[in-house]
Amino acid sequence: MLSTAHHADVVIIGAGIAGLSAAHRLTSAGVSVSVLEAGPRAGGRMTTAELDGFRLDHLGPLLNTSCPELRMTPGLEGLVLRSFAPGALVHSEGRQYRTGDVRGARGAFKAARALASAPRPPMGGPIDQARLGAALSRLATTPSARILARPEQTALAALSHRGLPSRTVNGFLRPLLSALLSDPGLSTSSRYADLALRGYARGRLCVPEGGAATLPELLAASLPPGTVRTGVHVTAADITSVRTEEHGELGCRSLLLATGAGAAAELLPGLRVPSFHPVTVLHHTAPAPPPTGAALLLDADRSGPVAHTAVMSAVDPSRAPRGRTLISSTVLGTPPPELDRTVRAHLAALYATPTDDWELLAAHHDPEAVPAMPAPHDPRRPVRLLAGLYVCGDHRDTSSVPGALFSGRRAAEAILTDLGVRPGNGSGTALPEAA
Ligand SMILES: Cc1cc2nc3c(=O)[nH]c(=O)nc-3n(C[C@H](O)[C@H](O)[C@H](O)COP(=O)(O)OP(=O)(O)OC[C@H]3O[C@@H](n4cnc5c(N)ncnc54)[C@H](O)[C@@H]3O)c2cc1C
Repeated sequence: MLSTAHHADVVIIGAGIAGLSAAHRLTSAGVSVSVLEAGPRAGGRMTTAELDGFRLDHLGPLLNTSCPELRMTPGLEGLVLRSFAPGALVHSEGRQYRTGDVRGARGAFKAARALASAPRPPMGGPIDQARLGAALSRLATTPSARILARPEQTALAALSHRGLPSRTVNGFLRPLLSALLSDPGLSTSSRYADLALRGYARGRLCVPEGGAATLPELLAASLPPGTVRTGVHVTAADITSVRTEEHGELGCRSLLLATGAGAAAELLPGLRVPSFHPVTVLHHTAPAPPPTGAALLLDADRSGPVAHTAVMSAVDPSRAPRGRTLISSTVLGTPPPELDRTVRAHLAALYATPTDDWELLAAHHDPEAVPAMPAPHDPRRPVRLLAGLYVCGDHRDTSSVPGALFSGRRAAEAILTDLGVRPGNGSGTALPEAA
């Protein structure tokens, strides 16, 4: 229970992964923290619904095993990542092609030359594939500082200057980047697109075992009991107090706004609100799994609304009851009318199997799923507005899970510096009781 006499050193508004990762670093340093969350549970956009034993994400997060923030965020030590099959399956001109496996492409030039006379898939023949592998391998070893110093343009414009044939770009890189950036038009900054491709080249695409909610659940479980208070909607905030719909006014020494961009600007008018990429995720169950295994299936031809899809029960068996099949599909941009019917028809073409007997389990549309990152994009927006007032979330960094986690880390470090407290690992000296 919160009471009007409640005080904390730091009040954090919003229990998404940004707010929770900041809370973990602050409580580990001995700072008392209250995380106030309007929703019924922690997690924000990282929500997983349960239905008849299925675990259904509101989002279809594509994470990467090479992401340092997933390894370095305290509280996420128990996170298990389930990898997709190497590379991706691309659907084009009525067929599926496996491509983009960087490791498989190493030393493939010799074999490619031998195969050069073989029929050429739409995204390029063996030599094109080897060239793609070499380009991705080069990117994998490029330091991020060099990528961030490159001229900035749209991801789409940059793709045509990579020295790769347009068939490789359109047949693989474009659909892959659209999926990684949730941006079908590829208007995203080319620097961030290159970082996303570099991550792809360095590791494997993956999802959290058990669903997206696993991340916030792990973070929340690592906090002192009672730190996160759900069902508390903040209606006004300043440095020393917040007003809530349910519990009146609460005092604090510092305030960290960790909501999405729109809610942050409502509480603190003047904060920048970016435009957003809308995303819709649909979950189907089928009598039998389509034979794509754990591959991520991309539509290179943009022949329907689905940008990417996968048999999630093959990637992460914990998301479906034993023996059942879960297929999760992502629609980028404005969803079409008659969503399920249109998506199901497209899935029938992509998987080359009838989908009439597939059952829609859930569909979730988020018009503000991913903040847009057009060029020029500043991935390190200030998190310290003034001493005592801080803001974090994916809109201050890169619009992604790692970006949200990193912004929480930066905000916690700024707060600790202003409070004169050293970062800790749980053994830090507690601040004196807040007055
Ligand atoms: C459909 C979809 C697909 C995505 N795909 C990917 C992907 O493939 N890869 C990737 O890396 N990222 C992806 N993302 C983005 C990723 O999920 C987000 O970047 C990340 O979860 C943002 O976390 P956050 O903590 O910044 O914000 P949020 O998760 O939005 O958390 C903010 C919290 O603040 C709470 N709040 C708001 N207002 C108030 C208030 N007044 N009082 C109290 N609480 C309040 C909200 O209820 C919410 O819980 C996707 C997102 C969506 C929706």
